[in-house]
Formats: sequence, structure tokens, C-alpha cells
Amino acid sequence: MGEHEVVIVGGGPTGLMLAAELSLAGVDVVIVERRPNQDLAGSRARGLHARTIEVLDQRGVADRFLCQGKAMQVAGFGHCPLDISDFPTRHNYGLALMQQETERTLAAWLDELAVPVRRDREVTGFSQDDEGVTVNLAGGDSLRARYLVGCDGGRSVTRKMAGIDFAAWDASVSYLIAEVELTSEPPWGIRTGDRGTNAIGKVGDGERASVVLVEPEVREGDEPGLDQLRAALVAAYGSDFGAHNPTWLSRFTDMARQAVSYREGRVLLAGDAAHVHSPVGGQGLNLGVQDAVNLGWKLAQVLRGMSPESLLDTYQALKMDEPRKRYAAMMSGLDIHYDLGAGHPLLGRRMPDLDLITDGGPRRVFTLLHQARPVLLNFGRPGVLDSLSAPWADRVRRLDVRYSGSWELPAMGPVPAPTAVLIRPDGHVAWVEDANPQGIFEALGVWFGPPASSSLRP
Ligand SMILES: Cc1cc2nc3c(=O)[nH]c(=O)nc-3n(C[C@H](O)[C@H](O)[C@H](O)COP(=O)(O)OP(=O)(O)OC[C@H]3O[C@@H](n4cnc5c(N)ncnc54)[C@H](O)[C@@H]3O)c2cc1C
Repeated sequence: MGEHEVVIVGGGPTGLMLAAELSLAGVDVVIVERRPNQDLAGSRARGLHARTIEVLDQRGVADRFLCQGKAMQVAGFGHCPLDISDFPTRHNYGLALMQQETERTLAAWLDELAVPVRRDREVTGFSQDDEGVTVNLAGGDSLRARYLVGCDGGRSVTRKMAGIDFAAWDASVSYLIAEVELTSEPPWGIRTGDRGTNAIGKVGDGERASVVLVEPEVREGDEPGLDQLRAALVAAYGSDFGAHNPTWLSRFTDMARQAVSYREGRVLLAGDAAHVHSPVGGQGLNLGVQDAVNLGWKLAQVLRGMSPESLLDTYQALKMDEPRKRYAAMMSGLDIHYDLGAGHPLLGRRMPDLDLITDGGPRRVFTLLHQARPVLLNFGRPGVLDSLSAPWADRVRRLDVRYSGSWELPAMGPVPAPTAVLIRPDGHVAWVEDANPQGIFEALGVWFGPPASSSLRP
């Protein structure tokens, strides 16, 4: 029985990257991969995002990828391109590079690092005890390791054998992806249909076509055939262009699944084994690489006794709520921020609908805006702003109020409590009291016209 510190199941991009990370940390690691070589059936990931390139640069190997691919702006949201060329990074672009090349380049790096890859071997199961994991291979061999990491893709045997649930969001759309020969010229390029985006591109010298097609109905699971591809072409383009002789035909959906736990004792998951989602946006391979660099040094430190096992829990515990908050605030309009200059975070943002105490009783802020008039709220010493704002009394409602709750903005979180705010009729904050209370005079003039009596100018 071969003994190693770590056995990685699967030599896709995640397993290769993790093996490199562990090897650099001096860990005795082996990959078991059922493919006989690094060849891939069909194209999968088409590129690397900026952080992945940075991570490779951190290890001194980015140039090996850069010299094979094409740097371009690839980020987007929906159908809107997002240019990152002004981002402060040496790699302010994405790299168009097929997964085949990415994997081959990673595998060549592993060769240099002398990491053993047992190819054409399949992991069929494992059992774990207090000391380690016994990994069973097809054909009867087994390996012994202190840790086992399943980088064995979306249908991960490791995850299933560990009994880790793969929680799912159902597919709402399915796509066919294929490389075929066509007898008539199609409209090359991208075409947006009612149900999603279709694309037909030339492969190599143009004798073959690469197609991605939305299926008329959501389908999952079964192996698609040429008839289904032709039907999808007709549905999207009105013709099947004589599609024949596919060298590759597959289906993917926008289904999303995530392992409910990334660790079960001495068994961990990474990459597609831990999470799968729509390929739109080109994240899967990139996420797998990030998993690998997050997990690699932690596992090495635990193996070396430098850190307790609990360090491994941080691999999964770093749940990010920030993206949800950021996008949701943007899409709901709650983050709208007019640039009114530097100052308190409330400046230019919407005034929260606080429950205030006024001399007339409890009032919500939004209730005070019902008349669509500006409102000046003084949370400080009563009357302190009266003389400064008196020349606008005909236009601006002025109130001394009390509020003892927290101040919080969507996506941004808690902000310091101001002592006074000037609220425009649209609900946005035009002024926040700071060291200079006389700033109110200027803000009132800018937004609500000249003072009624210039003699009151301080
Ligand atoms: C159509 C399509 C387009 C995509 N486009 C993009 C894109 O543009 N950008 C992007 O970042 N991602 C993209 N992806 C996703 C990307 O391909 C995957 O996220 C990525 O391959 C995951 O890498 P992985 O190493 O985790 O898993 P995999 O690549 O699935 O590798 C798993 C490996 O484990 C091996 N294995 C499995 N079971 C066993 C076993 N029992 N024993 C031994 N070996 C085993 C497999 O042979 C395989 O080599 C796309 C995917 C698809 C389907």
C-alpha cells in the first residue's frame, strides 16, 4: 500500500493546482486521475480571470500561461461588459486560454515539481479512521494518506462516499454545446434569443463549427444526440445548417449545487466537487484554482503541526455576504450615492427611514417627507441650527429630534450617528453636520435658493 501525506482524487485544474501548492509546501502528495492523459473531450473553460493570473504570478508561473493565450477584457454582468483595465493590478484583464492548455501547463509544472500523478487509475472508495484514510483504487490497489482531497468534479465519488449532500437550485435553462460539421454557412457569432444566448463560431481553419444553443425545453441528465442538436438549431436559427458528424456533443444547465460541507473528518472537497453552477461568466475553473490556493497552505500547516485542525474549517467558514449585499443594494437602488463631495457616509445617500421622537410625538423620517419639501433634522442641542437656517424657514422644514437607535446603510453597514442632516425632497442627504456647523448656510443656498434675508449671513 503506497503511503502519502495527501491523496488528491482528480487531476483537473483544481487537483493539479492543489498538488502544486502542497508540493511547494513540502508535502508528500499524489494525484490519482482516471484519464490516461491531460486530453479533454470538448472545450470547457475558455479563460482565466485576473485573480487567477495573479495567483499564478504569485508562484512565478503566470508567464507560461500568458504566452499561450490572449489578454482581453472579459468581465461582464448580464450582457454589459465591465472593463477592468483601470484596476490597480498588473493583470487588469482576463486571459483567453482553453482549459486543455491550462491543464497541460499546470501538469507540466507538476512534472517539474516531481509530483507523482497516477494516471489511468480510478478511485472507487475510501475509509477513514483517526490516523488517516485508506483510498481504494479500481483493480484492487489502495493508498494510505493522512488526508484525502476530492477534486474529482461535479459527480465526485469522494463527496458521495463521504455522505456530503450536494444541495441544489434547479435548472431554469439547458444548453447544448457541440463541435460539428455544417454543410451550409450559418450566421457566425452570437445571437440572443428569447430564452438565452446562442453562438456559432469557427473551430481552427473553419471546417468545423463550435455551437452553443439554448434548448427549447429544459433537459437534464440524458446524453444529448444529434437529433436534439439539429432541433435546437432549427428552433434558434430556423435551419440546422446540415449539422453532422459531431466530434463532441454535451449539455450543460444553469443548475447550481454546493456541498453542504467541504470537509468530513480527513476528507476535503475542492473545485467542482464542492460547487457547480452555470458556466456563464466563466467562473468554475477559476474558483477551483482559488479553492486550491486557499486550502493548500492550510493543509500543509496542519500536516506540519504548525496549526490546529480547526484551521481547515476556515476553508469553508469564509462565507461571503458582501457580494450579495453589494449587488442587491445596487439592483434595488438602495445604494444610490450622489457625489456631493467628501464627508460623512450619509452625504449624497438616501436618508434611512428612522423612527424619530419629535416634540409632536413619534415620527418616521419618510413621513416628514410627505410634503416633498426639504427637511433639516437636528439631533443635537435643541435650537442650535435655528438662527443659521432661519432665512430658509419658508422653504425648509426644521425639527429638533431624538433618535437612540443604530445608524446603518444598505450594503455599507453601520455609520457614525450625525448631529444634524439636511434632507432634500428626494430623500437624499445634502448636508451632514461636521466640525463646521456653518456649512449648513452654504448647503441651503446651493440646494434651496438664496436666503430670504441676506442680512442674516454670518
Ligand atoms: C461547457 C462548459 C464551459 C465552461 N466554461 C468555463 C469558463 O469559461 N471558465 C471557467 O472558469 N470554467 C468554465 N467551466 C467550468 C470548468 O470546466 C470547471 O469548473 C473545471 O473543470 C473544474 O475543475 P475541477 O478540477 O474541479 O474538476 P474537473 O475539471 O471536472 O476535473 C475532475 C477530474 O477528476 C477526475 N476524476 C473524476 N472522478 C475520478 C475518480 N473516481 N478517480 C480518479 N479520477 C477521477 C476526472 O477525470 C477529471 O480529470 C465550463 C464548464 C463547461 C461544462
